[in-house]
Amino acid sequence: MEKTVQLYEGKAKKVYATKDENLCIVSYKDDATAFNGEKKGSILGKGVINNRLTNRLMQLLEEKGIPTHFVEELNDRETLVKKVSIVPLEVIIRNISAGSFAKRYGVDEGIVFKNPTIEFSLKNDDLGDPLINAYHALALELATEAEIETIKAFAFKINDILKAFMLEHGIELVDFKLEFGRLPDGTIVLADEISPDTCRFWDVKTHEKLDKDRFRRDLGGVEDAYNEVMRRLLGDTK
Ligand code: ADP
Ligand code: UDP
Repeated sequence: MEKTVQLYEGKAKKVYATKDENLCIVSYKDDATAFNGEKKGSILGKGVINNRLTNRLMQLLEEKGIPTHFVEELNDRETLVKKVSIVPLEVIIRNISAGSFAKRYGVDEGIVFKNPTIEFSLKNDDLGDPLINAYHALALELATEAEIETIKAFAFKINDILKAFMLEHGIELVDFKLEFGRLPDGTIVLADEISPDTCRFWDVKTHEKLDKDRFRRDLGGVEDAYNEVMRRLLGDTK
């Protein structure tokens, strides 16, 4: 399958149409942004790592019964996916306090929750992706009640699967963001990406950060951290 026209260029990926109106091609860039686009930079090799990691994790989730947009990895940076209409909610699951949660509630990072939390943000860069609850999402007709219930159930199941998988590779899954979309028949599937850009990963033993926080917080060793996650989860650095 080949790219035809570019449909969209985002902060981390480009999306292209194909001859099949139900399929598109996602192309992962090395560009990195943080703080709603205020901080800009580039992480060498990130596009390749995020493409390959996302696809591995989407395949794992499919095997465990989660429907995803994944179709086929085309090359190092490009993947064929089912075209969806994205539900404009960022779905965030947290197992351990960090980032905006710690800031918002005035608590330390690193509190291990007995039960995971879920929250939604409205996917709108101009508004800075504000927090939104399920009633607001319903009022704004962003999703139906049934869709929200499906998304919540998938998100918690994805957390269980990914948490266990990461732990096998010495990684603590702190928190992560998911996006879901609708296929033409209305089926909800997992879309977008799952990578060190969209998850917080900490080394189980040292709690060293192995994710985009190294870029956000100028901690150094950004590329090394992405490579380390790829090495642990895919077993190579190809
Ligand atoms: P952003 O839009 O936040 O800058 P990206 O650079 O990652 O993010 O751009 C990728 C865009 O493609 C996102 O808006 C995402 O919602 C969208 N997207 C992801 N998967 C699909 C899909 N299967 N079909 C259509 N759009 C998708
Ligand atoms: N996240 C993301 N995109 C966003 C916002 C958050 O991928 O636009 C991810 C982020 O990488 C982290 C989790 O969601 O793994 C929770 O992020 P948080 O709300 O703590 O916000 P941040 O500290 O990133 O501003």
